[in-house]
Amino acid sequence: MKHSILIISFALSLSSAFSQTMPMQISVEIGNAVNSKRIRGECGLAQVNNFPIVVMQKIDVSAINKDSLTFRLKYQSFGSIFGAKDLFQNLTVWAKSQAQDTVPINYSFSGIPETVDGQIIFSETFLAGTAITVFLDENIKQIMIRYNYTSDYFNRCRRFCFDDERYRIGALLYFQPQIYAWHSWHFTHPLTELTHLQFLLPDDDSYIFFATQTERIIDNLYVTDLDRVEIEHGINFFLLKRELYEEISFYNEYVTGRFLLPKGHTIDTEKITRETKYFLAQLNDFFDNENHISFHKVGADLRLADGPDGAFIWGNVTFTADGAAWILSDLSEINPIHHHEVIHLFFDDDLVEGDIAPFFFRESMIEYLAIFFANRHDAARRDSVFNARFAIYQGIERESLDATSIFDVEHNFYRMDGSLGGTSAIVYLRTPFKVHQLAKSVGEENFFNILRTFYHHVKREQRAGFADFEKILKQNGVTDEQWLEFVENL
Ligand SMILES: [Zn+2]
Repeated sequence: MKHSILIISFALSLSSAFSQTMPMQISVEIGNAVNSKRIRGECGLAQVNNFPIVVMQKIDVSAINKDSLTFRLKYQSFGSIFGAKDLFQNLTVWAKSQAQDTVPINYSFSGIPETVDGQIIFSETFLAGTAITVFLDENIKQIMIRYNYTSDYFNRCRRFCFDDERYRIGALLYFQPQIYAWHSWHFTHPLTELTHLQFLLPDDDSYIFFATQTERIIDNLYVTDLDRVEIEHGINFFLLKRELYEEISFYNEYVTGRFLLPKGHTIDTEKITRETKYFLAQLNDFFDNENHISFHKVGADLRLADGPDGAFIWGNVTFTADGAAWILSDLSEINPIHHHEVIHLFFDDDLVEGDIAPFFFRESMIEYLAIFFANRHDAARRDSVFNARFAIYQGIERESLDATSIFDVEHNFYRMDGSLGGTSAIVYLRTPFKVHQLAKSVGEENFFNILRTFYHHVKREQRAGFADFEKILKQNGVTDEQWLEFVENL
């Protein structure tokens, strides 16, 4: 595997030597806030942000023969409601010429997003207004774009929001918790080629920092290993101000865990630690896990508007470069614990590569298990949870659903237009309900044991597939009739 990757990257760098490309280096310096600013989103929601990050993009244009170049923002959160003008402060553009290290350059910056009927702006539309155009001459060898940057996470700051003086107004969290594109905004051109990325932190331990695809070189310097950069997934980093968090660590023979809870939380930390240990022990047995698991779980306000209970609550797990998982969990879900994201730690997504229903295993089964484990000893409660969720699904307008079956789901997403549509309702509401229906017809405890057998099989074979699922269920007493009823309308 490793060899083929090396060969590919060698081939790529060979071909790029003969074409016009613009090698780009990005350095991100994390420091104290340079200013605070109250900004207002398109929906009229105020957010107080500070800008603790200085980004410098250096783009080598020496091989480019053009009068002007337009760099566009890419990799922003899909749910951003703030314009680039609100998230980029002190933006300056300089050039390096043959003779001088810094020379002024003519440029224009357009930071105003387009909006569509006041709706949440999706990236294609948003991209349209956020660009820097620079005007070149033959002496210019390098473009330097520098700015202070703040998170574009849509944080309503309802429960845990403080400013630097600890007043309850600002954004507490300095992360970018949008799935797929976190703190990744930067200016790109089709010809730019990221060659180096580094994060420099203050050396006083004032921040808690994690990143994907990057490695700690010395204490406060992280550098991306470019063989591993998957730019289309963004380069995600997470930044928390340490003084705003309470840290609780725990471990046993196979788990090292840490909770990062915003100060001012009302969680019973002994209870959550105890329950987490118990839950993890159950999962370890269920998945036949032998690996050491390491995670950091951050409590946050992750409610978006218009969910089933007045807010759509989400969570996320990301594997960081040091092998530890970084779990974001809404604080209302962290007590006892947010089961879904923790279960993700035990199941490797890659095992369903090429399967006919990848999201069945990647998400729906995990959601089913999360509800099952969260209500392990209360069958009536399980029933009511699954039924309530199915009722929400049934209330969704058909035209806002972008899939009708788990077999049709290609991308897992939630429409942020208030409709609850997209494909998430199939993935998280309907399919887990169908699994529960099957479990009931087989007998729930019986079904749980069959699933345990299935996941042990997955562990042995290092593969999870829908056909295997069928086979193992049937080998363990699920009838053809029960199976057919399950897959019909799945
Ligand atoms: Zn999930």
